[in-house]
Amino acid sequence: MHTKIKKVVILGGGTSGWITAALLIKKLHRIIEITLVESDAIGTIGVGEATIPPITTLNAALDISEKEFFEATNASFKLGIQFEGWGKPDDIYMHTFGKVGVDLTFCNFHHLVKRAQIIGEDTSLWDYSLNYRAAMENKFAHTKAFNDVPPMTYAYHFDAAKYVKLLSEVSIKRGVKRIEGVVAGVNKNHDTGYVESLILSDGQIVEGDLFIDCSGFRGILIEQELGVGFEDWAHWLPCDRAVAAQTEALPHLPPYTRSTAKKGGWQWQIPLQTRTGNGLVYSSQQYNEEQATAEFITGLNSGPLTDFNHIKFKTGIRKKPWEKNVVAIGLSSGFLEPLESTSIHLIQMAVVRLIWHFPSDGILQSEINNYNRLTIEEMEHIRDFIIAHYCINQRDDSELWRYCAAMALPDTLKHKLDLYQQTGKLFTSPDELFANISWLQVLEGQNLTTKTYHPVADAIDSVQMIDLLNRLKADIGKPVAAIPSHRDYIKMMLERA
Ligand SMILES: Cc1cc2nc3c(=O)[nH]c(=O)nc-3n(C[C@H](O)[C@H](O)[C@H](O)COP(=O)(O)OP(=O)(O)OC[C@H]3O[C@@H](n4cnc5c(N)ncnc54)[C@H](O)[C@@H]3O)c2cc1C
Repeated sequence: MHTKIKKVVILGGGTSGWITAALLIKKLHRIIEITLVESDAIGTIGVGEATIPPITTLNAALDISEKEFFEATNASFKLGIQFEGWGKPDDIYMHTFGKVGVDLTFCNFHHLVKRAQIIGEDTSLWDYSLNYRAAMENKFAHTKAFNDVPPMTYAYHFDAAKYVKLLSEVSIKRGVKRIEGVVAGVNKNHDTGYVESLILSDGQIVEGDLFIDCSGFRGILIEQELGVGFEDWAHWLPCDRAVAAQTEALPHLPPYTRSTAKKGGWQWQIPLQTRTGNGLVYSSQQYNEEQATAEFITGLNSGPLTDFNHIKFKTGIRKKPWEKNVVAIGLSSGFLEPLESTSIHLIQMAVVRLIWHFPSDGILQSEINNYNRLTIEEMEHIRDFIIAHYCINQRDDSELWRYCAAMALPDTLKHKLDLYQQTGKLFTSPDELFANISWLQVLEGQNLTTKTYHPVADAIDSVQMIDLLNRLKADIGKPVAAIPSHRDYIKMMLERA
């Protein structure tokens, strides 16, 4: 359709609606007008508080300073996720952000660690992670590079409702028009099927050229109106329910998310400055709501502050995240359970991708196809990574874990796991969100080990290799010793003028 896009309408004011509004107005403010319709009566999903490092880029792109963000959202720093009971019921490991070890030209660092272990050194991958060692001491600071040790890489935990409020204030100040109301119908063009306007229950009509569906799981435009279809991934990721609640703050304020595997799913703990976010993600095949709630309560480490929020979800992806003049962003576009805190990142990337593909002179099918291809590939990569956590388990305490250990895997994942087990080699493409080092921590952490390593590791003299490893371990210890506790650091940061 060769109509220049002038009016953009966003349906939904959750995290996806307001991230979309904030980024579009920042980057396209002279070109488009943005109206966002949201309903206070319907509300938002109310969860989504753990993130991955690219969130820092989002805030920077929106000119939101870290101090402003922390003051507004009760935020804390996140250095990784501690996985408990994945692999075997007593196992604990951390998927940390940032570098582990040093860059080697022809093979990854972990091959040196593997060789050192094989020749009898008592060492592990995590000895060479600055994030892990700081996390274990509940410490945080913005560190500088030191010898081979890079600065700390981090993400945030934050209060989802407060973040939405901050984003809406920023967006409205920059020109986004907000309408409060319930969308009760849609006008579509008889010939093209394009959406022309939203009809609100009070009779208001909101016209647009491009509509962004951020209406959550309902998918009001993309599914209810355009019926693009949904590819269900529940056979790989069987959890389909959650129960969530906020509890009192943890005094030591861990700078990491906790994910504890249970018989019927897993429980998250997200520490914020003045409260803690908790939730149990579970399979309705394994627990009913009452059993899930009982299990959830046993996993809480502080007193509840809110009622329990029961959520149903479906794992999978819209077959076409962009169809005609509707682009679905956020939960309306598909969902992967929050095990690796990826949904907010997927929103951020969807808006960036929309800006890359923003129509110059009307909407072209070639642009839609390219957008959809990239979106689906991105989701499939993350899907495989999340499935890996489930399928590599040695638990025998429930049907859920036995099913996951035995299930048929996507070919892409099976290939990756086989290659690692047989050769110790990992290959991820540059457009995959989770790089080798993330995969490695999950595979090793859940006991999918390998007995072999790259021959290049043998080219280094063993004494020199042990010396390099010891030096690196000692170098990482220095910044960790010098930095304050996570809670003290946030306090100092907020007191600074
Ligand atoms: C259990 C669980 C845990 C999660 N944890 C994380 C996490 O730790 N990290 C992470 O990155 N992500 C997480 N997510 C995902 C995250 O919550 C979402 O990606 C994020 O909140 C975006 O949601 P949304 O804005 O797409 O939808 P919603 O929050 O559901 O917002 C939908 C919006 O549409 C509006 N709306 C709907 N219908 C109408 C209508 N008819 N008229 C007008 N307005 C309407 C609503 O009022 C609302 O404003 C989690 C999700 C779940 C289910």
